[in-house]
Amino acid sequence: MRIKTNDTVEVIAGDDKGARGKVLKVDLVAGKVTVEGVNRVYKHVRRSQRNPQGGRLSMEMPVRISNVLLVCRSCGKAARTGARYMDDGAKQRYCKRCGAENGQIAPPKARYARK
Ligand SMILES: [Zn+2]
Repeated sequence: MRIKTNDTVEVIAGDDKGARGKVLKVDLVAGKVTVEGVNRVYKHVRRSQRNPQGGRLSMEMPVRISNVLLVCRSCGKAARTGARYMDDGAKQRYCKRCGAENGQIAPPKARYARK
């Protein structure tokens, strides 16, 4: 799983294909992400204490992680993401299109450091 909360991703399949948005939530168990403005549905809610008006509530539903790509911070394109170890043993994501680094995903570990 190489997508984290607050990443910008692009949807590559389905109704919202081509849409970009910020990741609001990541569900590691289900392999799904909730993206701002993507897969919006109307939830019909009854009148209740919390919601005395009732009516329709627009909200995003999670989408499969395989249907989104991380948008590269460097080239700005949606590209496949790889992971690699740096000289200090930290793990980072990188863009497979331009090779730029896209944020650290694990702290440095001596085991993986290059001597
Ligand atoms: Zn890139």
